[in-house]
Amino acid sequence: MPSTPTPTLPCVRVLATGGTIAGAQTSGSRGYQAAAFSIDTLVAAVPQLAALARLEVEQIAAIGSQDMDEAVWLKLATRAQAALAEPGIAGVVVTHGTDTMEETGYFLNLVVRSEKPVVLVGAMRPATEISADGPMNLYNAVAVAAHPAARGRGVLIVANDEIHFAREVAKTNTTQVGTFKSTHRGLAGLVNAGRLHLYAPPVRRHTAASEFSVGEANALPRVSILYAYAGMGRELIDAAVQSGARGLVVAGVGDGNLNAPALAACADAVRHGVIVVRSSRTGGGVVERNIEVDDDRLGLLVAEELNPQKARVLLMLGLTRTADPRVLQEMFFTY
Ligand code: ASP
Repeated sequence: MPSTPTPTLPCVRVLATGGTIAGAQTSGSRGYQAAAFSIDTLVAAVPQLAALARLEVEQIAAIGSQDMDEAVWLKLATRAQAALAEPGIAGVVVTHGTDTMEETGYFLNLVVRSEKPVVLVGAMRPATEISADGPMNLYNAVAVAAHPAARGRGVLIVANDEIHFAREVAKTNTTQVGTFKSTHRGLAGLVNAGRLHLYAPPVRRHTAASEFSVGEANALPRVSILYAYAGMGRELIDAAVQSGARGLVVAGVGDGNLNAPALAACADAVRHGVIVVRSSRTGGGVVERNIEVDDDRLGLLVAEELNPQKARVLLMLGLTRTADPRVLQEMFFTY
C-alpha cells in the first residue's frame, strides 16, 4: 500500500525537462524516444514517493538532453530560484537526460543562490525497458532533495545509488547505468533506497556563495569547444573566432597541449580579444599553467580540473562579469 502523504512531509518541487528517464521504446525494439512521458506519469509510476515528500511538478521542457541549450538553462535557473525562495519548498529535483546533465548541473551550481538542495536525476534505460533505472533514481533524488543534511552542498546528481557533486561528475559510458563518475574529489555520498550516507562537503565556491546569477538574462556569451588531435590545423579555431565566439575552450591533448599551428591560432584569437582556456581531452587530471605551453606569453588560461564542457559553462558565466583574463583565470581556481 502506498503511504498517504501527510502535511508534515517536506515539499519538493520537481522541474522536468525530459531525457531517457521519460523515454519510451518504439515497437518492441531497443530504440526509444526520450521525453515521451510527462512528469505526472513518471511520478505516478513511483507511488512510494508519497511517503517521502509532497511533490509539486512543473514541466519545463520535453527534450533529450542532447537538445539542451542556454535558453532552457536560463528558464530552469529562474524556475529553480523561484521555487527555492518559497519558504514551504525544501528542495528542488530536476529530471534531465544524462548526456548533458553534468553541464546543466554545473550551470545551476554556479547560478542558483540558495542553500537548499537542488538534485538532478536521470536514467540510462527508458521507462519501458526491463529493469528501468529511472524509478529508483527518482525515489532517491527526492529523498536527497527533501533531506536537511543535503543543504549547503551545492547542486547534486543522483544516479545508480550514488550522489555526485555537479562540479565533479562526468558521464563516462554510453549505455551503462553506472555511467556517472567523480574521479577527482570523489562522491558526495550514497543513497540506498532513500537512506542518505553523506560524505565530506565540497570545497569550491557554489550556489549561495557564488558571484554569478542569471537575473533577467535571456542569452549567454558565445563560447565554443575545439577538440585537439594529432595533426590539428588552425582552421577550426580561426572559424570559431570569425563566427563571433567570445571565448574558446580547447580540449587539448594530454596536459591540455596543442601543436604549433593550433597554438598560433589561439594566440591570434587572444590578440582579437577572445578568451582561450586550455582543458584536456583525457577525462582526468589538472591542467596547470605554464607546463609545456607558455600561457603567460601567449595569454592563455587553464581550466584546472574542469573538463571542456564544464570549463565552457564557467567561461560563459565569467564573461557575463568581466573580460579581464586575470580575473577569469582566478574564477577557474575558485569554482
Ligand atoms: N540522450 C538521452 C538524454 O540525454 C540519454 C539519457 O537521458 O540517458 O536525454
